[in-house]
Amino acid sequence: MILVLGGTSEARELAAVLHADGLTFVSSLAGRVARPRLPAGDVRIGGFGGVPGLRDYLRAQSIRAVVDATHPFAKGMTANARAACAAEHVPLLRLERPGWAHAPGADGWHWVDDHQDAARLTSEISVRPFLTVGRQELGWFTDPLKHHHVLTRVVDTPSIDVPGTWTVLLSRGPYDHDGERALIHQHGIDAVVTKDSGGDYTWPKMSVADELDIPVIVVRRTPAPDGDDVTHEVATAIAWARSMASRA
Ligand code: NAP
Repeated sequence: MILVLGGTSEARELAAVLHADGLTFVSSLAGRVARPRLPAGDVRIGGFGGVPGLRDYLRAQSIRAVVDATHPFAKGMTANARAACAAEHVPLLRLERPGWAHAPGADGWHWVDDHQDAARLTSEISVRPFLTVGRQELGWFTDPLKHHHVLTRVVDTPSIDVPGTWTVLLSRGPYDHDGERALIHQHGIDAVVTKDSGGDYTWPKMSVADELDIPVIVVRRTPAPDGDDVTHEVATAIAWARSMASRA
């Protein structure tokens, strides 16, 4: 059986093809959002219990290969997959969507190393930021931006209290250019804060910021360690999974 570590559109694309192929595989989701978009085929939900738990799972389910198609910022799961697969001698492919480092306008953005730096810089250059870093990262921003008029967009209600000056918008992409421009106008946004998620789903806010000359603050990715087997293409992951499934 192939294990697909998911939670992304790329993982769902991969699952759709493997399911159509009739391959034996299971997609794994963390269970972070209340109503996840489910991939085709079998799905398991919830953490494995760190590296030991994942090693047990790989053995118990006779997993012959793993595609780690988790989000570029799901660093914990990616590290655990690397360690568990190495320890169990299970082939691992990382499927990671390309980032925005070379996208139009990217050389004019403020690139920072982490969310703490993003929060500090945002507090200095913005009064009404649009904060789209995801629910789990909001804690880095609540204190530095406690007097700012923040618009934050998240899939599920934040699990922490946010300052009274903030507006929380519950929504899930994809988004389009006109809708993002209207939202940015409506809230008088003067900076966009995000992480280098890459992909098309959340890109329109970046092109609107470019069009309106609004500063953009982007948390950069941590590069994969040398030696990791990485692809940016779903098609490559499909071919790899097929070849793994057909191994004797
Ligand atoms: P993370 O910090 O890297 O993972 C923390 C723990 O959550 C992992 O150690 C693992 O628990 C569990 N986990 C994460 N992904 C899992 C998966 N696909 N299947 C089973 N367990 C998983 O991950 P995260 O950033 O919280 O992301 C969680 C999920 O949301 C991922 O599947 C990711 O693809 C998706 N996602 C993340 C983001 C983002 O910005 N981070 C955005 C969109 C979607 P155990 O140690 O117990 O195994």
